[in-house]
Amino acid sequence: MSVLVYTEHTEGKFKKSAFEVVSYAKAIADLMGTSVTAISIGNVDSADLVALGNYGASKVLHVSSDRLAQFINQAYASVIAAAAAHVAADVVVISNTFSGKGLAPRVAAKLEAALADGAVELPEIDGGTLKIKKTAFSGKAFALTELTAPRKVIALNPNAFEVRETGGTAQVEAFSPDIPAGDLQAVIQNVVRATDKVTLPDAEIVVSAGRGLKGPENWAMIEELAEVLGAATACSKPVSDAGWRPHSEHVGQTGIAVSPNLYIAIGISGAIQHLAGVSASKTIVVINKDPDAPFFKVADYGIVGDAFEVVPKLTAAIKAYKGN
Ligand code: FAD
Repeated sequence: MSVLVYTEHTEGKFKKSAFEVVSYAKAIADLMGTSVTAISIGNVDSADLVALGNYGASKVLHVSSDRLAQFINQAYASVIAAAAAHVAADVVVISNTFSGKGLAPRVAAKLEAALADGAVELPEIDGGTLKIKKTAFSGKAFALTELTAPRKVIALNPNAFEVRETGGTAQVEAFSPDIPAGDLQAVIQNVVRATDKVTLPDAEIVVSAGRGLKGPENWAMIEELAEVLGAATACSKPVSDAGWRPHSEHVGQTGIAVSPNLYIAIGISGAIQHLAGVSASKTIVVINKDPDAPFFKVADYGIVGDAFEVVPKLTAAIKAYKGN
């Protein structure tokens, strides 16, 4: 009996979501009275692998293979499933990132496991059953799901569980499972990054704007607010459809789903398709000149006012606060 956690990295550096899933896996292992093994695939410094112990992993299986230097869904899923068998894992935890969304169902199918994707809380454990709260209907609702199969796969939403430092160190072990040739038929040759800024799914703060901004020439104030907050920028679908902003910023049902600690929506009406991608945010602040805008119904804080007056004042107030 054990818990296995997959730790995702970008160019050899673990993402914050990796520390979140290890912390989450450790909390589950404590509830089950067992330990956590992490699996890392690709080139990562051994010191960084050992440091996963600081978040609760007692062991790290490290798969280092030139053939796995770039992310390949099928091959990574086979490796994680092999690792789960190697450590007799009852529970496999994966971050519900872009890659994790492809991996979790594949790993679950290979292990004939029950899957909860989009988990937002620690599960309740009742014998062999895990009861877990997860997002449903593209983030429009939450579902309480019971996983009753002997093996379980949980994909945890980024920013849903805090990073917990334990002060431990992990023992690192090389792991070289067979990789079926069929898993390597679609291989990424090269990745060109669109931006060096924090990516939307990983962002802790998101400043998002909609058609209320009137045109692309007005985004300077959105970018300035994002910069003072250390936030990523996002937009509604019509804004990216009109070419005011890149499609990589479009959030919602047909765009990226975000789950930051703080989502600031400026001049966005709050259509259900937009809310589908942002409702997992911890705190939602809405700025809209229409007091009846639907977004206010899901807001934690709302400012009824003209964005062109409110946003510069908000930015100035945050700068003044940070200056002090
Ligand atoms: P609008 O609806 O035009 O709202 C603009 C808002 O700005 C209004 O509330 C207005 O009061 C406010 N405003 C205007 N001027 C100011 C000002 N000066 N200061 C402050 N506030 C101001 N949309 C998405 O965003 N993401 C999706 O993934 C998505 N998927 C879709 C999928 C389908 C199948 C369909 C049919 C639609 C989808 N949509 C999606 C579109 C969605 O239904 C809405 O049309 C869209 O979200 C509206 O964008 P908006 O709020 O920016 O614009």
